[in-house]
Amino acid sequence: MEIKYTQILINGEWVNAADGATHTLINPATEEKLCDVASGGAGEIEAAVASSRAALETGAWPKMDGGTRGRLLWKLADLFERDLMEIARLETANQGKPIFESSKIEVPFVASIFRYYAGWADKLGGETIPGIPGFLNYTLREPVGVVGMIIPWNFPLLLTVWKLAPALAAGCTAVIKPSEATPLTALKLGALCLEAGIPAGVVNVVPGRGSVAGQALLDARGVDKIAFTGSTEVGRTVMKSAAGTIKRVSLELGGKSPNIVFADAKLDAAANGACSGIFYNKGEVCAAGSRLFVEKKVHDEFVEMVRGKMTRYSPGDPMDDKTRFGPQVTKQHRDSVLAKVAAGVREGATITIGGKAAAVNGKGFFLEPTILTGVRNDMEVAREEIFGPVLCVIPFSDDDDAVRIANRSQYGLSGAVHSASTERALAVARRIRTGTLSVNGAQWFHVDNPFGGYKQSGVGRENGRLGFEEYLETKVIALPSEAKP
Ligand code: NDP
Repeated sequence: MEIKYTQILINGEWVNAADGATHTLINPATEEKLCDVASGGAGEIEAAVASSRAALETGAWPKMDGGTRGRLLWKLADLFERDLMEIARLETANQGKPIFESSKIEVPFVASIFRYYAGWADKLGGETIPGIPGFLNYTLREPVGVVGMIIPWNFPLLLTVWKLAPALAAGCTAVIKPSEATPLTALKLGALCLEAGIPAGVVNVVPGRGSVAGQALLDARGVDKIAFTGSTEVGRTVMKSAAGTIKRVSLELGGKSPNIVFADAKLDAAANGACSGIFYNKGEVCAAGSRLFVEKKVHDEFVEMVRGKMTRYSPGDPMDDKTRFGPQVTKQHRDSVLAKVAAGVREGATITIGGKAAAVNGKGFFLEPTILTGVRNDMEVAREEIFGPVLCVIPFSDDDDAVRIANRSQYGLSGAVHSASTERALAVARRIRTGTLSVNGAQWFHVDNPFGGYKQSGVGRENGRLGFEEYLETKVIALPSEAKP
């Protein structure tokens, strides 16, 4: 396949790293080389931040009204739809996610995000403030400024656009640092921004190593806010580094989300939900339902039902439309998942199915989808993210027990409850400390639903009106007023 964009995008120009550094990308399904991509360092980040700063303060962007910005975002959505298959193939070749997911779900979702925030761009209204006689005070909503966006490898394009679309709608400018492992769709995005007519410098894209380019972005004085998705561990680094210049931060971090199944639930539907909840994107999902809590009296029956449905998630060529389960993103990540499964077994968990590396046509960083039973909530496999296709099953006795163990986690990102009694499910949902909760399979994965975490799963929200607010400052203007009340 043709890969057009492998350089760094700074101020509308495609450049190589000054020291010539590159990073080789490997297709995780075939183990073949995809291409070499330029690997930016501190110098490229400095130039990109200077470009974004200038675009924010001078040039066409700050003079543009919201309606014009909205039209540019709408145009960008059109371009994503025009190039949908090219972008989906890039994402699948680089990340390993099935083409079904990239072409039918994620790239269309990206177009809808640009359209949704296009609608917000001309609705930056403030409020008038009553109260001080002799003054007319009002608020203005203004862009937060230059935003550094640090993106992980699990949803390389989608998680970029969750940040970029509201930031552009608000009038911010951006420096995007994709994961070194998966930069291709962010680079294509940079090219489409230019084609849509977004002025040079508003969106800069610097692929490079997290510890080098990412850290330089965290430290840069010209950056006003960092929007980060990734591990809780690096999230801590983001917060600490941002403290240097009091950058605003929004963090979408790890999860260990509970999926609670009561004996009275529609078990067949709940089993489908348990599978998609852990095997979508081969388990490389922060909101994955990785802890499956099953009421004791249906535990064995339910595990068998889930197991019966897992054939749908057999490893396959991710470029095949029918495949629902691709390779892990890199060999290193595949091995880390296997090591975590082995640690779970040492702690007393049982591999009911899966638990081994796999291959398709003799190649690829595949894993068998896996169920671990006999898991206790205090085991490492239940406490820490595995970030792979590994379902940890934990029995519970009653509602209070389910709530107690579900909440016993450092994380609070997502979750699900299944029961024939909506009243019971809602009561339990209200008691779970997570940012999103699905009842009986209902869908929250949509652009107008704010997404984010409680506890160590993050700070702030993405999507919806709250996701837009993350990119705005509030200014009060105080005016003398002659008018008498
Ligand atoms: P990281 O948190 O390490 O990476 C996320 C992003 O941060 C990447 O762009 C990375 O760059 C960058 N980064 C890494 N170190 C720094 C730093 N010191 N300063 C600035 N930026 C930095 O996640 P990984 O991708 O390595 O995955 C590790 C684990 O994190 C996974 O196994 C999973 O458990 C969890 N994770 C959680 C995600 C979520 O959505 N909650 C998403 C991805 C991972 P680069 O990749 O180039 O090093």
